[in-house]
Amino acid sequence: MKGGVSGMDTLMKPDANYVPRNPMPASGTAASRNPMPTSGTAASRNPMPASGTAEVRPRVAVSSCLIGEPVRFNGGHSRDRFLSRELDAYVDWVPICPEIAIGLGAPRESLHLERSPDGPHLIGRKTRADHTAKMAAFATERARDLDVDGYVFKAKSPSCGIHGVPLYAGESAVDRRNRGLFAARIMDDHPLLPVEDEGRLNDPLLRETFVERIFAHARLRAFLDSDWTPRDLVAFHTRHKMQLLAHDPVAYGEAGRAVAMAGVLSRRELAARYGHAFRTALSSKASIGRHVNALQHCAGMIGESLDPVRRADLAETIASYQAGLVALSVPAALLRHDARGEGADWVREQTYLAPYPEALRLRNHVPA
Ligand code: SF4
Repeated sequence: MKGGVSGMDTLMKPDANYVPRNPMPASGTAASRNPMPTSGTAASRNPMPASGTAEVRPRVAVSSCLIGEPVRFNGGHSRDRFLSRELDAYVDWVPICPEIAIGLGAPRESLHLERSPDGPHLIGRKTRADHTAKMAAFATERARDLDVDGYVFKAKSPSCGIHGVPLYAGESAVDRRNRGLFAARIMDDHPLLPVEDEGRLNDPLLRETFVERIFAHARLRAFLDSDWTPRDLVAFHTRHKMQLLAHDPVAYGEAGRAVAMAGVLSRRELAARYGHAFRTALSSKASIGRHVNALQHCAGMIGESLDPVRRADLAETIASYQAGLVALSVPAALLRHDARGEGADWVREQTYLAPYPEALRLRNHVPA
């Protein structure tokens, strides 16, 4: 494992300051303190999920056409099945159509990106109208006000695409490595925001990672919006230790150092420093090796309370995951089961074992 290895011994025991209670607001309280934006159309439709893991509802910006709004150039939509049928029950959407927002109606002429000495321009294919300045102004304003836990963009759009958008010179595409004008501004101004397009979300691993991140961001947002104390921050961090470690041992260490500054830094400075380390950790990919490390730490924490047979089962299951024989959901489920007993609170409360509502069943589809 890169970095943090020397700190592993300390991970085998819960923090001395650990307070085994949940500092997160009870279901629904965060929502009442933090009213949803009026554009979040799903806010009133979706009941709070019953799962105890879903203390929060991520607020997720989305290209409006992906959730069925008829805003495309041809007056239609591009409703995405996963977003509208599966994720919809657990998140509050913040739909944004930048082309409608700058005054283009639906239907409208189609646009594309054109090469220009001062960067890509957003041009109407028939009228040659240049919408670059209006789109840039809207994107800057929207990026400044954006307060969401993630963003799902429409793939390949000259406004919303996050990669692979063609750039034209005359009638020919000369470069296909571009981002849409609006998406580029959002991503540049929010580099740690979980961002995907609906095409990439068809990949089980990318889908699982995105959903894990938006729930973690939502828990952090709800926590930092609450009347938290340094003691609450210790508890919040303790619950997230294995999740952060599985993603990025270095940023995990930085988050721990931020927590240790409680009482030294102001609340504002502490929130900024911890929040940055937390989001940075989650922006790194959780490799199989890092998962194995986190699973073994969890197993180490409950090992004493298990009989030798169950302990061996657990070790074998983690080894099977490491060897690519079973999905991550298998050792995670066994750990959750084994952590039911007394003395296993620390493991039981790790968000790593239940990072999002179980009903989404995403880890089942992540290849080992
Ligand atoms: S891709 Fe973006 S700009 Fe195009 S219709 Fe969808 S939300 Fe609007």
